[in-house]
Amino acid sequence: MTSNDNDKRDPSADKPTILPGQLHVIATPIGNLGDISRRACELLCEVDTVLCEDTRSSQTLIRHIGSQRPLVALHEHNERAQVPQLIARLQDGAQLALISDAGTPLISDPGYRLVAAAHAAGIRVSPVPGPSATMAALSAAGLATDRFCFEGFLPAKAAARRAQLADLAAETRTLVFFEAPHRVAESLADMREAFGSERPAVLARELTKTFETVINTDLAQLCERVSSDSNQRRGEIVLVVAGAPVQEGAAALSAARKLYDALAAELPPSRAAKLAAKIHGVSRRELYQGERAEGS
Ligand code: SAM
Repeated sequence: MTSNDNDKRDPSADKPTILPGQLHVIATPIGNLGDISRRACELLCEVDTVLCEDTRSSQTLIRHIGSQRPLVALHEHNERAQVPQLIARLQDGAQLALISDAGTPLISDPGYRLVAAAHAAGIRVSPVPGPSATMAALSAAGLATDRFCFEGFLPAKAAARRAQLADLAAETRTLVFFEAPHRVAESLADMREAFGSERPAVLARELTKTFETVINTDLAQLCERVSSDSNQRRGEIVLVVAGAPVQEGAAALSAARKLYDALAAELPPSRAAKLAAKIHGVSRRELYQGERAEGS
């Protein structure tokens, strides 16, 4: 083939071959229906059945793209029970598409059990990538993206949320959280407490929609902005928070390990680790990892 032939090749023709009995995991828009991909539309018009969280909300998308394919509900309450019959259908050669209400299935959305069972049964699982609130927020946040941790939703109860944030205080990778509008002010206040007022942070709200807002500032300013402007407590929200400065994280971990060694001489190891981690704002997991690395 000459380089000229290469230029003429249709890049959209370069796609995986569809085998009988395949599960297609398809990303759908997070607000703007114009973000659906051509390949997602083709598959959603061709498959035997579309599995979705809520048939009524997915109907809008399915109608919008002109698909006539039947929708079947697959959500956290019925997934376990549905998996055996869906696997049997795939083994009989059916083409099934899995979508969620919005964005990429399985990312804080149902589908994990089905995908894991499909692999266990030797069924081909093929992704159709596209919108994802996590990636959209990270791409517009202006914080480091070379390494990041996706933390999903924080616990709703204040004590559990604060404990989780304390565990993340020395994390040096950028942190990504989903948050509900009615809890965003509380969560931001807890983050300011755990990570410090000056930690850079971004509120990414209503991405791809009319009231899209991306605010890049620090935790103190973000708390102020969200508590004084009720519009910032509406809609769908992703919070992106810079990781702890590398030096600070390493120094805190080293101090926590020293304290742990001293405390462990007097206290049970779990109590010593809990106290040392809390005092220096590091995670118990990191402390234990240090123990294992030194012991090995
Ligand atoms: N699987 C989805 C994805 O890949 O985007 C995420 C599903 S999770 C149940 C829903 C959460 O994603 C919302 O509560 C919000 O935190 C975030 N989200 C979804 N759409 C968003 C948008 N348009 N703008 C900002 N955040 C969004």
